Amino acid sequence: MREKTILVTGGAGYIGSVCTELLLSRGYHVIVLDNLQTGHRKAVHPKAEFVKGNIGNKSLLGRLFNGNSIRAVIHFAAETLVTAANTRPQSYLANNLVQGIHLLDSMLKYGCRQIVFSSTAAVYGEPNDVPIEETHDTKPLNAYGDSKLMFEKILTHYGNAYGMKSIVFRYFNAAGCTENYGELHNPETHLLPLVLHVPLRQSDYINVFGDDYDTRDGTCIRDYVHVSDIANAHLLALERMKDLSNAIYNLGNGTGFTVKEVIATAERISQSTIPVRIKSRRAGDPAKLVASAAKARDQLGWNPICSDLESIVESSWLWHLRHKDGYD
Ligand code: UDP
Repeated sequence: MREKTILVTGGAGYIGSVCTELLLSRGYHVIVLDNLQTGHRKAVHPKAEFVKGNIGNKSLLGRLFNGNSIRAVIHFAAETLVTAANTRPQSYLANNLVQGIHLLDSMLKYGCRQIVFSSTAAVYGEPNDVPIEETHDTKPLNAYGDSKLMFEKILTHYGNAYGMKSIVFRYFNAAGCTENYGELHNPETHLLPLVLHVPLRQSDYINVFGDDYDTRDGTCIRDYVHVSDIANAHLLALERMKDLSNAIYNLGNGTGFTVKEVIATAERISQSTIPVRIKSRRAGDPAKLVASAAKARDQLGWNPICSDLESIVESSWLWHLRHKDGYD
């Protein structure tokens, strides 16, 4: 049995693939559990052990926990397409909550009591104040945010009643790529990859959803944080879990950029003109979402080092240039 085995659910997805890569580089043994509904088999690092399946498959989980000494679970697997969450909430609640509970129950059954959970800034809804602290009210605007918030609460109950230790990360706008792993969704809805589709000649323009917000240029402000910095927070969580369990942390950069600023940076880095079409506002988009990451810095010692906009856009551009056909 290996000492440092971590089960990464959703390890074939964007953040999971980067986190797996980092864990392997630090000497962890990684088992990736992913049903490949949205993940990519080729996004799983070749040194990770890959198991195809659902997080709620109790017999599969039993075999995994029985056959391996799994120290902790990093739980990325989820349905995340925000736009679809309100039209078919059943699927979000079934996958993100019901299956998630099966995962927790299997962990308890086999004596694994440490989990790092991927939550989201969507739990805050429309913020009253920015930067947003973890103590801010939580009023999600869609079933996706709600499913994440509910799972956070389940973790609190499992902590109080069964001694489950959890660290919850509320991600702001994960962006950027490593050399080998990057952001690739189907359908793609996220700003930066869509902007880069233009210089990659995969689209002719970028839609900007609203330019009449109360912000410096009228477009929405978001807090973009590099996926490698996010992965690093997970490593710190594993290392500090014993002292810091049952805590919630924002993962953001603390600085916001407008949609137009992201586009201008992409134009500079790709040395292209990126035509813009102004569209109406997207439902449920707050004008400004910026994190206070002070708690993660103070308590976890988290120090985002590549989350400046230039590094984010450049790393993404380089990855997309090398992966014009995705992982194929
Ligand atoms: N956005 C945009 N055009 C697009 C995609 C996104 O103007 O094609 C805007 C979106 O309205 C939001 C910001 O870019 O203000 C970031 O959106 P994204 O979907 O990347 O992340 P979110 O903030 O919704 O998690």
